[in-house]
Amino acid sequence: MTDALLFDWKKEDYVAISGMVDEHADFSPLFNKNLEKLFLDLKNVNRINSSGVRRWVIALEKLRDVELHYINCSFSVVEQLSMVPEFLTKKSHVESFDARYVCENCNTSQVVTLVVGYDIEAGLSKYLDGPDRLCPNCKSKMEFDHNPDSYLFFLSNLHNKKK
Ligand SMILES: [Zn+2]
Repeated sequence: MTDALLFDWKKEDYVAISGMVDEHADFSPLFNKNLEKLFLDLKNVNRINSSGVRRWVIALEKLRDVELHYINCSFSVVEQLSMVPEFLTKKSHVESFDARYVCENCNTSQVVTLVVGYDIEAGLSKYLDGPDRLCPNCKSKMEFDHNPDSYLFFLSNLHNKKK
């Protein structure tokens, strides 16, 4: 039993991808569309293994002339974006990504979608912390639940899109 990658086309150039990116990952639905721009919603990409990384990088080579927009990147996508520089082609943009915050005061945890250029700036040389978020429960300042240095590393490789 494998958890095949699913492609749910919301629009002509907007697809939500879900499932696990492994050695069976088939990205061919993204090819031969002759699109100049492609929006990839990655919220439900829940696991990526090393064979999956290779398959993704090969797919990106085929898509090198397409302007790619990564939207709602899940934790596992963000980890790969920060570890595998090939995930960001010259024409790719990261629009938004998920981060987990925890409140140490009341033990609430929350997944927040951060918008690049709005919640957090791209292109800084170093990231020491995520943007501040208040606990929805007790209004205390929550802790960014990732190592910002590694989790947010991919942002350093993005051009600052803020005008
Ligand atoms: Zn709280």
